[in-house]
Amino acid sequence: MTVTRRQFVKLTAGGLAGSSIAALGFSPARALAEVREFKLARTSQTRNTCPYCSVGCGVILHGLGDGSKNARTEIVHVEGDPDHPVNRGTLCPKGASLLDFVQSPHRLRVPEHRAPGAKEWTPVSWDWAIGRIARLMKDDRDRSFTARHGELAVNRWTSVAFLAASASSNESGYITNKVIRAMGMTALDNQARV
Ligand code: SF4
Repeated sequence: MTVTRRQFVKLTAGGLAGSSIAALGFSPARALAEVREFKLARTSQTRNTCPYCSVGCGVILHGLGDGSKNARTEIVHVEGDPDHPVNRGTLCPKGASLLDFVQSPHRLRVPEHRAPGAKEWTPVSWDWAIGRIARLMKDDRDRSFTARHGELAVNRWTSVAFLAASASSNESGYITNKVIRAMGMTALDNQARV
């Protein structure tokens, strides 16, 4: 690299200034680390699970807000949870970019329903969506449930299948299995196998 006389003077002056500051006990690296700490100092932390793949890594969401009733907390930073047994604080590149997903204007925030024959999806409430799913499941079970196969009691419901989430805890996985089996559903699989 060719350095002109003017560039050489600038570099020398910069180097001298840097070493003089360091000699006075001011370390740029330390100063930068302090700024990073201040960035998260006022945030609240919430534990969650990365929604992308079946590994189910734990994340910490840093939210900024004053905690008042009508104020909305804004997620400003996402990092791996060092206490999570799956990832121990690490995240793959996809999980590390989770903040973009959280703040995306295209993110789906409410359930949507496309009525039979309709071209458009319509936003609906969670209550409506859960009620609709329950209604359809009940009607289908009433139509398809098989109590006996000849002499044998089978109590099975084979016209639907259930896919459980791999990011769930052991406890919610246990309850999911109990509820699904209690309804007679035989086709149960988990995202962790996908
Ligand atoms: S951080 Fe990566 S590996 Fe972990 S759950 Fe998210 S997408 Fe999967």
